[in-house]
Amino acid sequence: MPGAFDFDVIVVGGGHAGCEAAAAAARTGANTALITHKLSTIGEMSCNPAIGGLGKGHLVREIDALDGLMGRMADQSGIQFRLLNRSKGPAVWGPRAQIDRKLYREAMQSELADYGNLTLVEDGVEDLIVEGGKTGGVVGQTGKRYRASAVVITTGTFLKGVIHRGEERIEAGRIGEKPAIGLSDRLYAMDLPMGRLKTGTPARLDGKTIDWSQLELQRADDEPTPFSFASQRIGVPQISCGITFTNPETHKVIADNIHRSAVYSGAIAGRGPRYCPSIEDKVHRFANKDRHQVFLEPEGLDDDTVYPNGISTSLPTEIQEAFIRTIVGLENVRIIQPGYAIEYDYVDPRALTPGLQVKSLPGLFLAGQINGTTGYEEAGAQGLVAGLNAGRLVRGEPAAVFDRAEAYIGVLIDDLVTHGVSEPYRMFTSRAEYRLALRADNADQRLTNKGIDLGVVGGARAKMFHVKHQSLESGRQLLKSLALTPNEASKYGWKVNQDGQRRSAWDYLAYPDISFEQIIAAFPEAGGLTEGVRRQLAIEATYAGYLERQNADVEQLRRDENLQIPEDLNYSAVGGLSNEVRSKLEAVRPATLGHAARIEGVTPGALVSLLAHVKRRQ
Ligand code: FAD
Repeated sequence: MPGAFDFDVIVVGGGHAGCEAAAAAARTGANTALITHKLSTIGEMSCNPAIGGLGKGHLVREIDALDGLMGRMADQSGIQFRLLNRSKGPAVWGPRAQIDRKLYREAMQSELADYGNLTLVEDGVEDLIVEGGKTGGVVGQTGKRYRASAVVITTGTFLKGVIHRGEERIEAGRIGEKPAIGLSDRLYAMDLPMGRLKTGTPARLDGKTIDWSQLELQRADDEPTPFSFASQRIGVPQISCGITFTNPETHKVIADNIHRSAVYSGAIAGRGPRYCPSIEDKVHRFANKDRHQVFLEPEGLDDDTVYPNGISTSLPTEIQEAFIRTIVGLENVRIIQPGYAIEYDYVDPRALTPGLQVKSLPGLFLAGQINGTTGYEEAGAQGLVAGLNAGRLVRGEPAAVFDRAEAYIGVLIDDLVTHGVSEPYRMFTSRAEYRLALRADNADQRLTNKGIDLGVVGGARAKMFHVKHQSLESGRQLLKSLALTPNEASKYGWKVNQDGQRRSAWDYLAYPDISFEQIIAAFPEAGGLTEGVRRQLAIEATYAGYLERQNADVEQLRRDENLQIPEDLNYSAVGGLSNEVRSKLEAVRPATLGHAARIEGVTPGALVSLLAHVKRRQ
C-alpha cells in the first residue's frame, strides 16, 4: 500500500556511503530521506583527510561518472592534489587529494541541503520495520516510525562500536559519538551472517608544535588534476605536507610496551586492515626495518591539526606521546587527540545480491563499511549502487549490476558478494583483470551512458557528457581518416617500420615517441582538436594494442579454468606473485586454476603468472 509510506527510500547514516546512496536514490526520482545521528556530521571523514589514491581514485572517477558527489566535493575542498604513479602508464595513475576536513563537510552538507527529492532527518535509527517478509521502514530513537518500501543501511563503524586505547574501552561509533546498538541487535536477530572487524587511527598533532624546519616537504602538483569530469579547475589554495620517519628509538618504545597495545593484549577479536597496519604491527612484523615513513598532513587551511599518516596506534596515551616525541620534528609536539582502534560489527557481504540487496529481506540494502570494506571511496561506490537500486526497486525496475569488465565498482561488488571478506577490504588496481580498459581517465566514457539509461544521471551532466562524447568521436574519426606511408612519415623524423604499409594518424599516435604535436605537424587538420580531446585520444590510441592483448589473456584464463595445478607446486618459483598471494596459495593449494581464482585476494595478474608457470612445467 504505497500511499501509507512517508518516503520511497530511507537511507540510514550520513557518512560516505549514505551521502551517495541518498543522492543516487533521489536522482532516480525516489522521494528519499537521509536519517542520521547528527546533521552536523554529514560528510565527516572519520580518519585520514584524503580522498583517492591507487585504485581508490578510479572509484571516485566512476562515482563522478554516474553523477555522484564525492569527486565534486573533493574538488571544492582539496588542499594538496597529486596524481600518483605518474611514472607508470595512465591505466594505473591514481588521482589523490589531501582534503580540508571542514571544507569537505561544508560542501557535502550544502549540496545535500538543496538536493531535489531529498529530506534530511536528524535521528538515530534503532530498529527496522518488517511487514509481510518485506522492509517497511525504520524506527527512530524516540520510537518514531518512518515508513518506506526500501531502506539502505550505511552505518559504518557504528554497529556495537567499541574504541580501544591501551587498557581503556569506550563504547562509541567513532570518537565522541555513541554506537548503534539496537540496529545491530536487529540484524543479528534476522540471522544475518555477521562478525567483528577493526580499524585504527593515529593521534592528531598540534601543527604549531611541530618543527617543520627539520622536515622534507612534499608539494602539491603544479597543475592539480580535478577528480570530477565536471570541474574545470581547482580554486582552493594548495599546501605542502611534511615527511619524517620513525627510528630505532621509536621502535624500542613501542616494542617495550607492545603488551599494552589493545591489539596485542588480545582485547580485540576483529581483524584489521592488512594494508593500513598500526605502527605496533609494523614494528612487530617488520622487525628488521629501522624506520617507517610518516607523512604529516595538515587537516585544513585554517586548522592547526595535523594527521600523522603512518602511525595509527592503540597504545595508551602516555606511550603514544613517548614514541611520537622520538621522531624528528616532533620532539616537542602536543597531542590534540590520542589515536585509537575501533572494533565494530559487519555483515558478511555474501548475504547480498550483486545489487547490494539483502537476499533474505526484500527492500533492505547495505552499503559501506558495514559490508566489511574500509575507505571512503569503497563506501561511496557501494552507496551509489545501493541507493540507485533502492530507487529502481521502488519503480519496479530490475537491479542495476556493474560488470567487472566495465568498472572498478563492478570488481568491488563482485569481490564482496562472491568471496566475502576476511579482513577490511580495500581497492587496488591489481584486483581488476581488465585494468587497462578501466582507467581513471575514461570512467565517464565507460559509465555515464549506462548511468543515463539507469536514471541516475541528471540532465546537466548528461548534456555535458554528450558534448564531450561527440567531440571524442569526431576526433577519433578524423585521426583514423588521415594517413601516411612509412616513407612519408620518416620525413618528419619518425622512426617507424619501413614495411610500405600506409598507417593512420591514429596508428602513429600509438608510437611512444610520436607526440600529438608531431601528429599536428604532419596532419594540420588535427590542430583543430581541443587540448582535452587530444590528451584523451592519445591515451586511447596508446592502449588500443595492449587492450587486445589483455582480452586475449582473459580469454585464455577462461579457457584454462580446469587446468590442474600440481599438488606439490613450489609457489616460490612462480614469478610475479606478491608475498600475500603466495602465502594464500600455499595455504589452500588449489586443485585447478578456477579454484585458485576463487581464493580471496588472488589477483588476475597472479593467475596469468600461475597459468604460464604451470604450462611451462607440463
Ligand atoms: P561512516 O563514514 O562511518 O558513516 C556512518 C554514518 O552513519 C555516520 O554519519 C553515523 O552518524 C551514522 N549512523 C550510524 N549508525 C546510525 C544509526 N543507527 N542511526 C542513524 N545514523 C547512524 N579508512 C581507510 O581507508 N583507512 C583508514 O586508515 C581508516 N581508518 C579508520 C579509523 C577509524 C577510527 C575509523 C572510525 C574509520 C577509519 N576508516 C579508515 C574508515 C573510513 O572512515 C570508513 O571506511 C568510511 O568512513 C566508511 O564510510 P561509511 O559511510 O560506511 O560509514
